[in-house]
Amino acid sequence: MHKEFHPRHPHTCESLSRYAEMLGFGEVHIKYDHATGLRAIIAIHNLNLGPAIGGCRFIHYDSIDSALEDVLRLASMMSYKAAISRLPHGGAKSVILKPKIIKNREAYFDVFGKFVNELNGRYIVAEDSGTTPADMDIIARHTSFVTCTSDAGDPSIYTAIGVRRGIEAAVKFKLKRDSLEGVRIAVQGAGHVGYHLIKELTQHGAKIMVCDPQQELLQRCVNEFKVDTCSPEEIYDVDADIFSPCALGKVLNLETIRRLKVSIVAGSANNQLAHHHHGAVLFEKNILYAPDFVINSGGLIYAAAIYAHGDVKKALVQVNDLYPILLEIFERSKKENLPVNEIAEKMAREKLLMG
Ligand code: NAD
Repeated sequence: MHKEFHPRHPHTCESLSRYAEMLGFGEVHIKYDHATGLRAIIAIHNLNLGPAIGGCRFIHYDSIDSALEDVLRLASMMSYKAAISRLPHGGAKSVILKPKIIKNREAYFDVFGKFVNELNGRYIVAEDSGTTPADMDIIARHTSFVTCTSDAGDPSIYTAIGVRRGIEAAVKFKLKRDSLEGVRIAVQGAGHVGYHLIKELTQHGAKIMVCDPQQELLQRCVNEFKVDTCSPEEIYDVDADIFSPCALGKVLNLETIRRLKVSIVAGSANNQLAHHHHGAVLFEKNILYAPDFVINSGGLIYAAAIYAHGDVKKALVQVNDLYPILLEIFERSKKENLPVNEIAEKMAREKLLMG
């Protein structure tokens, strides 16, 4: 991934267009709807492996330029994620710029649904930050190129199952153990994924320490799974086998890596590395890192499977396959003596080119 390159600030049309070109973009579509005031962008990164899939964000941006930069970056990451997860899809992302006051949310998603449909299936839209299954239901009135509608189930359960499978692969590779029995895991965040992950891990015999600033979420985990808790400040110092970031991005930096006592980092959070080169820092410190865009792809795999065939059992088989996918990445990293994140990106690029 091209994490070192950023378009010039303040943005110019030229710099954003060069950024899109450098990321290898196929198409970028912008919609202005005068009746509702909707401003939306759909960025389709790559169609080599099949129709492009990715979430729709409905969040506030300072300008259309910032929204464009964000959607380009996120869509290119989706191509990597779909490719490494062996999905028959390219990557895409969309954003609807959230106004200060929303007069009619339904009208926004009605217009957006028509916008998606105009692309004739080159883009399949899913839920993302700021959008809900109910929004996807509105979009589905106008197009069949949509997943994560309210009858589809909660994708974060499948993200959690995928993370548990990734943790099992890391434990096999690094600790040479076939089960999670007695493995000590420090989980950062007890939100949607964190809660389901802790459920999965405790059912498989792991010992959990969890933190979250929201006390009621922590208490729910204590009551249901008998876990230990610590403060958010203490989580990096916990004496454990695994650190599992399931809350925020950019949590792995020189300061936090120095504090870690674990031999594995494996969690759901997006953009865990504060900087791309922190992957190499973890590698040099002999801490096995499960690349975020691979280990957290269970929700996407599920959404794509539900879109394709609606069979939950088959979707679960595909999510479980994150175990061999991650083992292959770990083994290649060892063989080529390169950081795991670089190997995962290299493998995703190879798959995209082969498509
Ligand atoms: P969420 O908002 O439901 O949960 C995040 C939790 O982190 C919240 O409970 C919040 O209180 C807690 N938190 C905030 N600051 C914290 C801190 N300093 N220390 C500990 N906890 C803190 O979000 P989620 O859906 O569970 O997603 C978690 C992460 O996984 C995010 O980075 C998200 O982008 C990523 N992710 C989620 C999915 C999914 O299916 N939901 C899929 C892929 C990636």
